[in-house]
Amino acid sequence: MFQIKIIGSGVAGLCVAKELIEKKTNITVIDKCNVPGPESCSWWAGGMLAPWCEGESTEKIIVDLGQESIPWWSKNVKNVVQNGSLIVALSRDERELKRFQRRTENYDILENEGVCELEPDLGKKFNKGLFFKNEAHLSPRDSLSELKNDLIKNGVEFVNEEFQFDENTYDKKEIIIDCRGLASKDEQKSLRGVKGEMLIIECPEINFTRPIRLLHPRIPLYIVPRGKGIYMLGATMIESNDNKNISARSLMELLNAAYAINPIFGEAKIKEIGVDARPSYPDNIPSIRRKDNVISVNGLFRHGFLLAPALARMVSELIFENKVPEIISEYSS
Ligand SMILES: Cc1cc2nc3c(=O)[nH]c(=O)nc-3n(C[C@H](O)[C@H](O)[C@H](O)COP(=O)(O)OP(=O)(O)OC[C@H]3O[C@@H](n4cnc5c(N)ncnc54)[C@H](O)[C@@H]3O)c2cc1C
Repeated sequence: MFQIKIIGSGVAGLCVAKELIEKKTNITVIDKCNVPGPESCSWWAGGMLAPWCEGESTEKIIVDLGQESIPWWSKNVKNVVQNGSLIVALSRDERELKRFQRRTENYDILENEGVCELEPDLGKKFNKGLFFKNEAHLSPRDSLSELKNDLIKNGVEFVNEEFQFDENTYDKKEIIIDCRGLASKDEQKSLRGVKGEMLIIECPEINFTRPIRLLHPRIPLYIVPRGKGIYMLGATMIESNDNKNISARSLMELLNAAYAINPIFGEAKIKEIGVDARPSYPDNIPSIRRKDNVISVNGLFRHGFLLAPALARMVSELIFENKVPEIISEYSS
C-alpha cells in the first residue's frame, strides 16, 4: 500500500486526498492551521463552479477541465446548487456584455423580461442578460468541512503541525504532495499572490437564487447566494501578496456595485470582510510538478474549487498509471 503525505488541507489538498483514498492508499494530511479556517485561501472563495463564464478571461483548457468540477462536487458534497449563473450590465456598460458574449459559449441571451423572470429582485433595470444554465455554485466552507469529515471517516489521519520541506529529513519511500498554496513560494519562486477582497453580507429582503455577475469596465462584481439572506460579494483582483487589509477604495467599490444591482443592499448588515492572496503562476494556469517523490499541485489562482477535482484526478493518474498530467510546467521523475 502506498504511503502518502499531503501537505496543506485547502481545497487542493482535500480534493487530492479524496481522489487518492478511493485507491486504498494510506494518507496523512498535515496542515499548520486548524482548517477549514480563515488561514487558508480556500476559506474566502465565492464557490462559483462557472467554467463557461471563466472562458471570458482564461484559456480553453481551464474551461474544459473546469467542467469536471460540477459532477465531482455534486457526487461528494451535499450543498451544490446547479441553478446557472446570470450575467448583467447596466445599459451604459452594455458593450461589456457584448464583449463577454463574444468570448464565451454555452449561454442563452435573455431580454429584460427573461432577466426579471429568472431573478425578480433585479427589477427591470437590465435590458439584457446572459444565462449560463449549466453552471453551479457551492458553499466553500460547508464543502471543505464535509470533505474533511468524510476523509476522517475513511481513515485519513489529519495532523495539525507545520511541515518542514527538508529533503534530508523526509522518508524517501513516501510520496509527498505539496498543496501549500502561496506558502510554497519559498520553493517555487514564480508563484505570486493575486489579492482578492470580499464581503459577506446579510440582506434577507433580497432573494437571489444563483450567482449574478455585474459587468463593469473597471469594477466587475459578483454576488453569490449562500442561503437564508446571506451573500458573498466579490472579488477584487490586485497584484499583491497582501492577505490582510482591504482598502477603503475596494470596500466602497464592492458596496457601490451591490447598491447598483439593488439599492436594498444599502440596508444589508456586513457580517465579514475577507482578504486573501490567490496562489498564481505568471500565466494564471495551475500546474502539477514532480521532483523525485515530491509532487506539487499549485497555482489554482481564481479557480480553486473549479479546478481542484481535475487536478486531483491527474495526481491520481500520475501516481497509479504514470500518466503525465495535462497541466504541467516542469516534469522530472
Ligand atoms: C476572494 C476570493 C474569491 C474566490 N472565489 C473563487 C470561486 O468562486 N471559485 C473558485 O474556484 N475559486 C475561487 N477562489 C480561488 C480559490 O480560493 C483558490 O484558488 C484556492 O483556495 C487555492 O487553494 P489551495 O488549496 O491551493 O491553497 P490554500 O487554500 O491556501 O491552502 C493551503 C494550505 O496549506 C497550509 N500550509 C501552508 N504551509 C504549510 C506547511 N509548511 N505545513 C503545513 N501546512 C501548510 C495552509 O495552512 C493552508 O491551509 C477565490 C479566491 C479568493 C481570495
